Amino acid sequence: MSQIHLEDGVRQVPVTSILGVNVSKLGMRDTVDVLERAVASGKPHQIITANPIMIMAALESEDNMRAMREAELIVPDGAGVVWAAEEFGDPVAERVAGFDLLHELMKRGEQLGWTAYLLGAAEEVVQEAASRLQNQYPKVRIVGVRNGYFGESENAGVIEHIRQAKPDLLFVARDAKTQEPWIARHKQELGAAVIMGVGGSFDVISGKTKRAPVFMQKLRLEWFYRLAKEPSRLPRMMALPRFMQTVKKAKKSTE
Ligand code: UDP
Repeated sequence: MSQIHLEDGVRQVPVTSILGVNVSKLGMRDTVDVLERAVASGKPHQIITANPIMIMAALESEDNMRAMREAELIVPDGAGVVWAAEEFGDPVAERVAGFDLLHELMKRGEQLGWTAYLLGAAEEVVQEAASRLQNQYPKVRIVGVRNGYFGESENAGVIEHIRQAKPDLLFVARDAKTQEPWIARHKQELGAAVIMGVGGSFDVISGKTKRAPVFMQKLRLEWFYRLAKEPSRLPRMMALPRFMQTVKKAKKSTE
């Protein structure tokens, strides 16, 4: 069972198991409440916003599965994950999209005077995202910004920069295959309380790309919008039908 480690011991978060990955069943509001306590604890918490591509990556790569197992909280980001929980007869309260969770955390941070650090995406994208977030949430101090294009040799410098900044929230926007293992490997050294991979969110916040219209999100078609806008995503997207097949097969074997 997924656990969130808090100052006052360990609090259990209700989870549903999707192909061996424990996904939180909490809705947005409860998730933000839990993460408020995580910030108060000052201890590192990796939040994974799971979608079918990431779950397939976990089934296929030990590094990704380890990150999932060791994450303090996994939220149902993708419509496919919400669907799978329903298929297995143990549904989640609602979809908790990483993009929305980022904004909800910034809102809570406004009330509580948190600090945030943005790591990832291209230099001009992360700079623009930081400036827009700072305007939108003036009471959350953005204590650091770093683009996401760095190799092993620059790792130590990147980590040190974050440690010095001591952020409450660390948002990491890199590609889904590398961001979670990177956070898992370094979370103890980073000195941030809530560390969350946010994928392409800085691209959207900066205005470089757009999120799907709300009606498409409601129809669970956000993946289709992204695919139509960026056909190069097709190979990655092939994980979606494979995920659905794997869920159907797993469901059948338990019937
Ligand atoms: N990105 C990065 N460093 C990398 C690769 C990607 O910072 O080495 C950034 C990229 O600029 C984008 C974000 O990660 O802002 C998500 O990338 P993409 O959409 O390719 O990944 P996905 O979320 O589809 O896995």
